Amino acid sequence: MPPLDATVGGATSYLADAALIGGEVVERVRIDIRSDGRIAALDRNAGQAREHLAGLVVPGIPNLHSHAFQRAMAGLAERAGPEGDNFWRWREVMYRFLAALTPEDVQAIAAQCYVEQLLQGYTSVAEFHYLHNAPDGTSYAERAELSLRIAAAAEAAGIGLTLLPVLYRQGGFGAAPPTEGQRRFLLGFDAYQRLCTKMAKHAHIGVAPHSLRAVAPDDLTRAIALADTLGPATPRHIHVAEQEREVADCLAWSGARPVAWLLDHVPVDARWCLVHATHIDADERARLAASGAVAGLCQTTEANLGDGIFALRPYLAEGGRFGVGTDSNVSASPVEELRWLEYVRRLESRARNVSETRPGASVAASLLERAARGGAQALGREAGEIAVGRLADLVVLDTDHPTLVGRRGLGLLDAWVFCGNATPVRHVMVGGAWVVREGMHLRGREIGAAFAAAMRRLAEAV
Ligand SMILES: [Zn+2]
Repeated sequence: MPPLDATVGGATSYLADAALIGGEVVERVRIDIRSDGRIAALDRNAGQAREHLAGLVVPGIPNLHSHAFQRAMAGLAERAGPEGDNFWRWREVMYRFLAALTPEDVQAIAAQCYVEQLLQGYTSVAEFHYLHNAPDGTSYAERAELSLRIAAAAEAAGIGLTLLPVLYRQGGFGAAPPTEGQRRFLLGFDAYQRLCTKMAKHAHIGVAPHSLRAVAPDDLTRAIALADTLGPATPRHIHVAEQEREVADCLAWSGARPVAWLLDHVPVDARWCLVHATHIDADERARLAASGAVAGLCQTTEANLGDGIFALRPYLAEGGRFGVGTDSNVSASPVEELRWLEYVRRLESRARNVSETRPGASVAASLLERAARGGAQALGREAGEIAVGRLADLVVLDTDHPTLVGRRGLGLLDAWVFCGNATPVRHVMVGGAWVVREGMHLRGREIGAAFAAAMRRLAEAV
């Protein structure tokens, strides 16, 4: 295989057959990438041919919400319960599973999880990381042991990481005591502050109070102050209104619904990602849209857990921003997230092409571009579009693949999102460095072997 890159004048130049730029597919574009991983220039009159990228180049999708360790329990909670099965019984399975996880397991699982995401077109991940302690609830000798494992996994896989150490303080609204299953998550605020400060030296980080049920108002205030200390642009993520029971419990505790409570008490703005925000009324929805925050939609996990349906169409009409997340990692595919974002609303409304209302506009392109921009905003990562100055997080689609062959222009994206299950992802670049070539992750074999060993061990231990 010939090399794909050529260094010209300090930048590396690529000639793409086509690229998705500013909402349109532009043919024959030269993309120059600086040594710092950012796009230096885009030349639509490609001029002198450099190295050739056969196919369509699209912006990589940021994954705005992941719990990597849950990749290893996908499929473990799919047996019918004695009666009305629900999220809360799934959570009990998850608590039992993670009691067996070692730091080595966490790293091996996360690396595999990120490789799988890269192979499908994600290029960065916000890891909402709440596993801090040893199985008995005590600290590891290295307080940041498991956070460092996540950072190492991301580095090995080559995915862009926004690490979100999670503050988890209580078992439920009103300072309910934590359960035994939650003891690996718990940190005092001072320990949390030290963890964030340390990890800021190893990764791009954000602050993540777990949820209103797990963090009391005074700790939420302190977490926001900590975020400001770490940097004015520090991302802030929180789970909110995922389950109807959470809404009922929040109403009983405060008299307000969770998203309304958050918007009333916290300066929610474009630095925030509200993960799920599934159960919102019209007033909360309009306020969330107006805040500039990103709704973190995790469609496949929300479906798997039976969470409910986010009101996407009115939210988009109100100018709301969103991105997509793999959350429990039952799916590693941004295409599956986007496809089901649209399909669920089609089923609900008994209509077609519902998340884009401009006549003739491509639903796939609209969802893809919104998710890329919203995800990048949520991660605090200067990516999410192919533009000068942005990080070169790029996905090259093989336009000769059976999924795409014969399509042109935005029709290529319509086919990618809505045709079949084989992926046409050919090459993937993160911050200017190739991590997937010809459909193969460069370290996929060794990472896969470590993952297999961890899974076999866990099969005996759980
Ligand atoms: Zn989550």
